[in-house]
Amino acid sequence: TETNAVSTPEFCIRPTTTPVATNVRQEILDNPGFGQYFTDHMAHVRWTKTDGWHGAELRPYGPLTMDPASPVLHYAQEIFEGLKAYRHADGSVWSFRPTRNAARFRQSARRLALPELDDDTFVESIRTLVAQDAVWVPTPRDETEECSLYIRPFMIANGRFLGVKPAAEVDYYVIASPAASYFKGAGKPISIWLSSHYNRAAPGGTGAAKCGGNYAASLVAQQEAIDNGCEQVAFLDAAENKWVEELGGMNLFFVYADGRLVTPALTGTILEGVTRDSVLKLAEEIGLKPEERPISVDEWRDGVNSGTITEVFACGTAAVITTIGALVTEKDTIGDPERSNGPVAQQLRKALLDIQYGRAEDKHGWLTQL
Ligand code: PMP
Repeated sequence: TETNAVSTPEFCIRPTTTPVATNVRQEILDNPGFGQYFTDHMAHVRWTKTDGWHGAELRPYGPLTMDPASPVLHYAQEIFEGLKAYRHADGSVWSFRPTRNAARFRQSARRLALPELDDDTFVESIRTLVAQDAVWVPTPRDETEECSLYIRPFMIANGRFLGVKPAAEVDYYVIASPAASYFKGAGKPISIWLSSHYNRAAPGGTGAAKCGGNYAASLVAQQEAIDNGCEQVAFLDAAENKWVEELGGMNLFFVYADGRLVTPALTGTILEGVTRDSVLKLAEEIGLKPEERPISVDEWRDGVNSGTITEVFACGTAAVITTIGALVTEKDTIGDPERSNGPVAQQLRKALLDIQYGRAEDKHGWLTQL
């Protein structure tokens, strides 16, 4: 999946005349939560069937004016991405493997019959936004604080047309939101609810694409998780309801006592996480034996009960690496909700964060300066 080379458009910069006041911004940065506050600007590029991509601009953050017959509102022809900008100790700002997100965005676009955006424009749109809104990139107070600027590129089918066919008008935007840790009480193990009535994705469906519809379909299961005292939901394969796929927004890993590190294989129904790929590479470096293969709920249950599985964790951009204390099913609880973080999850988490925040050598060339 190499870049389809085109020259990067110049983004026309239209600065806001009403930026958030410095003291208000500082209050937000002191306690940003997740996804609640947004920076002063957004990037935008338009696509039409006749003219292709054009009109790259940075403009003030604000509401979109859309036609009520806009196809995205009816048929969910939409894709998105999620990545972060990290401030290093010297003040410089970096992103982590943004071309992986760019490539995944192109794959998602293909699945949703949206036009592909080239990787250079994707990265340039992020760079332009982060440069303009650099004061919004939080500065960690110490090595334990995980704050960053969460970046959300997305693409929507726009226009005025209710026919069910690929849109002829499309808009791409990037917005950004200062972020603290994703889960409250960050670093603590979470409990996961096993969804036995709802599936997230089926063969031939959109599970491997990052499209809004997948998340809409996961929400009742996510609500069921919360009603059962869990933070997140785990989904099984749609054909047999037997194989563990992933969480609503994170990939899964199992640590075995003999040093194997197992993650569900990419079947076309799982989102290929950038964090997942990075964990697979880092795991080898610390002497683990990564395996991508199917893993069943029964293997999870038996492994945890017998001690062959010593740790289970989830990973993703937003929450990095989070230990799973217990899997709660309709008939039993696998593991211990009160368990503490396992050593392997902690070691991988530190290795990843140290690279992202510039505290360790970036041997893989994963960082891109913004
Ligand atoms: N699975 C799903 C369904 C997700 O939404 C995400 C978050 N993008 C992930 C896994 C993890 O992907 P990444 O490591 O690229 O954030």
